[in-house]
Amino acid sequence: MRYISTRGQAPALSFEEVVLTGMASDGGLYVPETIPQLSADDLTEMAGLSYAEIAFRVMRPFVNGEIDDDTFRRLVTEAYATFSHDAVVPLNQLDANHFLLELFHGPTLAFKDVALQLLGRLLDHFLKKRGERAVIMGATSGDTGSAAIEGCRHCDNLDIFILHPYQRVSEVQRRQMTSVLADNVFNVAIEGNFDDAQAMVKASFADQSFLNGTRLVAVNSINWARIMAQIVYYVASAVALGAPHRKVSFCVPSANFGNVFAGYMAYRMGLPVERFVIATNANDILHRTLAANDFSKQELKATLAPSMDIVVSSNFERLLFEAYDRDGAAVAALLERFQAEPTALADAPLAQLRERFASHSVDDATILEVIREAHHRTQEILDPHTATGYRAAERERGEASVPMVTLATAHPAKFAEAVVKAGFPGVPLPPHMDDLLEREERYTVLPAELAAVQQFVVENRR
Ligand SMILES: *Cc1c(COP(=O)(O)O)cnc(C)c1O
Repeated sequence: MRYISTRGQAPALSFEEVVLTGMASDGGLYVPETIPQLSADDLTEMAGLSYAEIAFRVMRPFVNGEIDDDTFRRLVTEAYATFSHDAVVPLNQLDANHFLLELFHGPTLAFKDVALQLLGRLLDHFLKKRGERAVIMGATSGDTGSAAIEGCRHCDNLDIFILHPYQRVSEVQRRQMTSVLADNVFNVAIEGNFDDAQAMVKASFADQSFLNGTRLVAVNSINWARIMAQIVYYVASAVALGAPHRKVSFCVPSANFGNVFAGYMAYRMGLPVERFVIATNANDILHRTLAANDFSKQELKATLAPSMDIVVSSNFERLLFEAYDRDGAAVAALLERFQAEPTALADAPLAQLRERFASHSVDDATILEVIREAHHRTQEILDPHTATGYRAAERERGEASVPMVTLATAHPAKFAEAVVKAGFPGVPLPPHMDDLLEREERYTVLPAELAAVQQFVVENRR
């Protein structure tokens, strides 16, 4: 299997190359040239298997023999052994046919661990094989940097530098990053805001000469391996609920669209999915596009669900590529127009998307209301991202006979501010993290100057 770009111009790559490469050279994103199929028998045989074994079976065709089976099985097993729940991603039944898929039992209490625990190991495997080292750089407003750090802390051939805005990150989120004292982990507190940090990371990717030839790797959600790892929990949860004999629907709190796109891939592989419900916060480009064909950027709004605060959904391009029948030129033209001005999808692709996707946007006041209402009805305290999903699922729930699975993307303790605002006394950290506030921290404060940051990277990478 090869991987091709959504804009049709970049060269096709192998799995190994696609893991080591972020964006395609034509500005597009890589997708598999053909979509592997899971037969009804394949799904039936998965019933009762461990999460790691299901993960191995679902992802094996994408790896295309470029990692031998024993090694790949070991990488997958190690990645999911870091989760604190034996089921890795347990299903929690809320009522007769509404389930929460708890994706937050990984090291940093949010679903990004599912992908990043595997991606770090895949990168390290390929780098070792090639006898190369690489540097990872990323910027975070606090919520997602820790998942990248935890995914790479054991990787001998990777050094990771995560920039966060100094004194503008919540204490729990800062400590989740800065208490990782591994030799290859560098937390940099920038005297500036998140945009300053992100601008320096972008500039470093645009001109990598400061690294003298060492590879710079991005671990953001445009990396294909992240999508691949996320396909697994759609399959595992549907099988647990009776696939291939019974359909399910999924509701996904969404931002960059990586998570729900993985679900769509599972569907295209043969998983019987009735519909996908996309939940957004007030940053609702996905909802506006699907509901009103308003494919346009709006100003960023800071919400109570900060991991979903985006202007553009980068992975939506992968779905557009499918909706436009894999016509890379059409996708490139559409996205060029989109960058310049408000635009709209063509009728046929929009109609195709509407057959499988519904959407719902949830504002901050409603998030607080939902946290209270869901607790009243189910005793669960939802994190604010999952709350958008809960509301969308309740609103867009179709036939009662089809189970609805809402993806719980974060543990409420990670976003306690919203939970407290909703009127609860707070949420304790889970037992394996309850000493977080006493752990030793390590980070370096630097001015918001590109030269200072790049010098720090060059001096400290191993
Ligand atoms: C990243 C994130 C999301 C959004 O996921 P996408 O793949 O970007 O759509 C939702 N909830 C939480 C908690 C996240 O960290």
